[in-house]
Amino acid sequence: MDRVLDDPNTLQEAVVYFADADNCLNYLSARRWPNGVVCPTCGSKNVGLIASRRMFQCKTRHPKAQFSVKLGTIFEDSPLGLEKWLPAMWMIASDRNGISSWELHRALGVTQKTAWFMLHRIRLAMQDEQNGGKLSGEVEVDETFIGAKARNMHADERAKKITGTGGQGKAIVAAVLERGGKVRAKVVGTRRKHELQAMVREHVEPKSALYSDALKSYDGLSEEYAHQVIDHAQAYVNGNVHTNNCENFWSVFKRSLKGTYVSVEPFHLFRYVDEQAFRYNNKLPMKDSERFSYLVRKVVGKRLTYTELIGKEDKKSGIEAV
Ligand SMILES: [Zn+2]
Repeated sequence: MDRVLDDPNTLQEAVVYFADADNCLNYLSARRWPNGVVCPTCGSKNVGLIASRRMFQCKTRHPKAQFSVKLGTIFEDSPLGLEKWLPAMWMIASDRNGISSWELHRALGVTQKTAWFMLHRIRLAMQDEQNGGKLSGEVEVDETFIGAKARNMHADERAKKITGTGGQGKAIVAAVLERGGKVRAKVVGTRRKHELQAMVREHVEPKSALYSDALKSYDGLSEEYAHQVIDHAQAYVNGNVHTNNCENFWSVFKRSLKGTYVSVEPFHLFRYVDEQAFRYNNKLPMKDSERFSYLVRKVVGKRLTYTELIGKEDKKSGIEAV
């Protein structure tokens, strides 16, 4: 008698569940096409399944009438099966500190470089589409230096990339965070007024309560926001006036960079910021299975080739196809 498996709730259940190719297909297509399969080329819903090949067939005549569930997602062109991709996504979505390419390499039996590329594609899926509207209520804004390593970089290139990004080889990440709500974080070029204030205006509803430290770049926001400043030279908290939630976000982020991702290059830092923001924005009480399901829905319409990832044409040697 066939046993009908429920959706997995733990990593172990996920590995077992997604070892079955039909479960992979059904899980992903149900999230990608909640109202029935739609042809990615022509938009028709008149689509059949070729069960033996796990391919869909659009009944309208046109090129690419046969398509796989991977087409038009971060998995497109990947020779790796969903039985590896989906547990990898479960791991990175569920672990509080992230998963390194070395851990993934050992867990899945793919090379470390392949695992590294997979993780970056998954981070692209994690990227916030920012369609949830602006932050409001009580919002903190803060920025921090990240001591990203400039290893493997030619001296000229290093000078070009690092100068003006905070000096001393550091990158700057800025965040706006709604208390009890979401965070928006990104790598910024400078800590100058125009850059930080543009980020506040882009992400925070006017008239919200806004809390920052005494950095001069935040001066002038009080015309649009109920802006209050905590001068860290004097105190870290004054009643409601603090940026402790941002501080906590930075400390978790830096711990994961130090402990898990030991050699992040500045060029890739924004992807780790996206990952950390995803984890923060989908934290408890959201269950692992819900967070994973949400991430699977976000794979559609996103592509990242290896060349795009490294920003160069000539580094392809040494990596197997992903
Ligand atoms: Zn079609």
